[in-house]
Amino acid sequence: LWVTFEGGDGAGKTTQARLLEEWLRDQGRTVVRTREPGGSEVGVLVREIVLHHRGDVSPRAEALLYAADRAHHVATVVRPALARGDVVIQDRYLDSSVAYQGAGRVLDAGEIRDLSLWAAEGALPDVTVLLDLDPGVARRRLDADDKPFDRLEAEREEFHERVRAAFLALADAEPERFLVLDATRPADELAAAVRERVGATA
Ligand code: C5P
Ligand code: MG
Repeated sequence: LWVTFEGGDGAGKTTQARLLEEWLRDQGRTVVRTREPGGSEVGVLVREIVLHHRGDVSPRAEALLYAADRAHHVATVVRPALARGDVVIQDRYLDSSVAYQGAGRVLDAGEIRDLSLWAAEGALPDVTVLLDLDPGVARRRLDADDKPFDRLEAEREEFHERVRAAFLALADAEPERFLVLDATRPADELAAAVRERVGATA
């Protein structure tokens, strides 16, 4: 069982991933919680480049760096875990690339998806939870928590609007894989909705 969480910064992906992990562990499942970029040792180095040299890296180079992180992560972390029968809970996957490198950076969304699928040898999660949130609300949330909103610091509002619309379009195109949730709902309600969906899949 492989579950990914998607959505903009500040939508609550990490919180929901943690709550799902706790629930599955209580049921005796072995859980690997991971993320992209940066879910492997090599990936940590790639994460450094993409996050700390943002703006210096050309859009296509950025897309390839995310794809390289993904290829290595899927091959060395995700596939082995799934082969052992573990549950993989992942913060961001290829939908983030389609949304950020595709719609955000204005590269071709289909090409970014194909690149990601090539990198991952076609691996797709069983369930993808999209935590949908207005970028303005997200920014206020992160400000209130004193957390940096890297992208919103560096990017203009339309960037995040494009990213959000791209996530919603992806969910529309693959309704059987996606669970779309309104991220303004209380965390415990969201967690219950996630458990219901994952429980039906597991
Ligand atoms: O969610 P996380 O904290 O790992 O994301 C780090 C930053 O990388 C975020 O600001 C996110 O917007 C950006 N990102 C990106 N393209 C991706 C994944 C993340 O631009 N494919
Ligand atoms: Mg996060």
